[in-house]
Amino acid sequence: MSDRVGVIGGGLGGLAAAVTLAGRGHEVVVFERAERLGGKASRLEADGFSFDVGPTILTLPSVLRRVFEEGGARLEDHLDLVRLDPQWRSFFEGGDALDLLAGEAAMRERLAAFAGPAVADGYGAFLARAERLDRIARAYFFWRSVGGLGEALRAGLRPALLPDLLALAASKSVAGLVRSYVPDARVAQMLDHFTQYVGSAPDQAPAVLCGIAHMQTQEGVHYPVGGTAAVARALAALAADLGVERRPGVGVRRVLLDAAGRARGVETDEGEAVPLAAVVSNADTGATARDLVGGRAARRFDRRGHEPACSGVVLYLGLDRAYDHLLHHNFVFSRDPHEEFEAIYRRGEPADDPTCYVCAPARTEPGVAPPGGEALYVLVHVPWRRPHHDWSAMLPAYRRVILDKLRRTAGLDDLERRIVVERAMTPADIEARWSIPGGAIYGHASHGRLTGAFKPANRSEVPGLYLAGGSAHPGPGMPMALMSGWIAADCLDRDGVAPRRRPAASAAR
Ligand SMILES: Cc1cc2nc3c(=O)[nH]c(=O)nc-3n(C[C@H](O)[C@H](O)[C@H](O)COP(=O)(O)OP(=O)(O)OC[C@H]3O[C@@H](n4cnc5c(N)ncnc54)[C@H](O)[C@@H]3O)c2cc1C
Repeated sequence: MSDRVGVIGGGLGGLAAAVTLAGRGHEVVVFERAERLGGKASRLEADGFSFDVGPTILTLPSVLRRVFEEGGARLEDHLDLVRLDPQWRSFFEGGDALDLLAGEAAMRERLAAFAGPAVADGYGAFLARAERLDRIARAYFFWRSVGGLGEALRAGLRPALLPDLLALAASKSVAGLVRSYVPDARVAQMLDHFTQYVGSAPDQAPAVLCGIAHMQTQEGVHYPVGGTAAVARALAALAADLGVERRPGVGVRRVLLDAAGRARGVETDEGEAVPLAAVVSNADTGATARDLVGGRAARRFDRRGHEPACSGVVLYLGLDRAYDHLLHHNFVFSRDPHEEFEAIYRRGEPADDPTCYVCAPARTEPGVAPPGGEALYVLVHVPWRRPHHDWSAMLPAYRRVILDKLRRTAGLDDLERRIVVERAMTPADIEARWSIPGGAIYGHASHGRLTGAFKPANRSEVPGLYLAGGSAHPGPGMPMALMSGWIAADCLDRDGVAPRRRPAASAAR
C-alpha cells in the first residue's frame, strides 16, 4: 500500500488541491493528460501575439491568496495582479456604451447620468441585496464540501440570514431579481452577465448567484501579468517546490478500487497501475463517475441529471492596429437577451445575434501584441455540443456572425481587414483538448431556482475519492475551481485517509 495521494488533472482545481495537500505534508503526484499543466488556464503564442486560451477575468483573488498560504507562500511574491477599473465596457445595440466602475458611488453617479436617478438608486439597492446573498454563499456554500440543500444547512442556521434564506426559497431567478431593482433593459442586461461566469441562463439561474455582483464589487477584477496561464504556472512551480511529482503527458483511464470499493490507485492510459492512498479527481465530474469509476457511481451520477453548462467559440485575432475605444474587458451585448438565451439554453443552438465578450489585454500589458497592434480575444457562448453540431462545418458561418456583430455594435469597422493572425477554438476542440463532455466550459449548468447552485460534493460517495474543479462544488470559474481544489484537499486531509509525511508548509516557513 502507498502513502501517496494522486491528483488526476493539473487544471487550477487539481493544482490548488496538490499545493494544499503538499503544503500540509502529504506526498502528492499529479497526472495530467495534456503536455502542460494548467488546463484551461493556458497560453497561445502566435507570430508575436500572446493570448489567454480560456479564462481571462480573475475575480476573488483572496481565494488564490489562501491557496498560496497553504503552500507557505505569499501570492504577491509569485504573481503580479493589476486591478482594473473600469471593470468592463458594455456596448449595446443602438450605440449606447456604459462602463462598469469598481466603486459603488462612482457607478451610481454614472448610472444616474446614463439612465436616470431611479436606476442609480435601484443599482444601490441591488448591490445591498447582493451583499446579503454573498453572505449566504459564504455561510453555507464556501470552503466546505456541499452537495445539496441538506448538507448546506448542516453547518447550522444563522438567524441573521434567515429572512434572506426564506426569501430565496420563494425565489426569483437572477434575471427576475435584477429586474425587480433595475428598471432599465440595458443596465439589467449588463447585470445579468454576472451569471455568464457560470455559463447559465439568467432566467433559469437561482437569485443567490447575484451575490457574485457583490464579490466582484468588493474584491475587484484583476489581470495577472502574463495572462491567466501565469496563475497556473505559479501554482505548478509552488507545487514543485513543495515536492509534488508532476506527470504531464500522462492520462488516467481508471480509478482503481479495492474489494471494499475504496479508491486505492489509478491506471494510466498506458496501462501503468499506480497504488495510492487516496485520489483527487480534477477531471470533469461526469467523466470521473462514468469513465474513471463506472458501475454504481456512474448510475448515481446519471440519476442526478446534471445538465451541462454552455460551451463557447473563441476567436484569437492578432491585429495590425489597436482600437482605442476598447477597454481591457468589453461585452458587446445581443439585441434581445431573451431570444439569445432561448437559443443557447433551451433550443440548444448558437444564437443568431449573440453577446460577444472581447478582451484587449494590450491595454494593460502592451507586450502581448507587436507595437501598435492588438491581441484580441473574442468569446461567444454557444450550447454544449449536440450530436448534430459539426463545428468544422459550422465555424466559417458563425465567424461571420461574430465579426458582423462586432462591426455593427462595437464599431470595429475594419476588423476583418486588420487581422494578421487568426486561430479559433470550438466546442469540439474544447471537448477533445481537456476531456470535457460536450465541451461544456463551465461544468454543470446552474439551473433551478432552489437547487441550481448545487454541484457534486467534493467528498464523493466513493471512499477515498475527492472531486475538484469547475464541475464540482462550489462551481466553475477560476476562483471557484481553486476553492474546490482546496476543499477536496481539506476533506482528504481531515478524513485521515493518507498520512502526512512532513510538517505543514504554512507553519514551517
Ligand atoms: C473559453 C473560456 C473562457 C473562460 N473565461 C473565464 C473567465 O474569464 N473567468 C473565470 O473565472 N473563468 C473562466 N472560464 C472558466 C475557467 O477556466 C474554469 O472554470 C477553470 O479554469 C476550471 O478549472 P478546472 O481545474 O476545473 O478544469 P480544467 O482547466 O479543465 O483542468 C482539468 C485538467 O484535467 C485534465 N484531465 C481531464 N481528464 C483527465 C484524465 N483522465 N487524466 C489526466 N488528466 C485529465 C485536463 O486535461 C485538464 O488539464 C473560462 C473557460 C473557458 C474554456
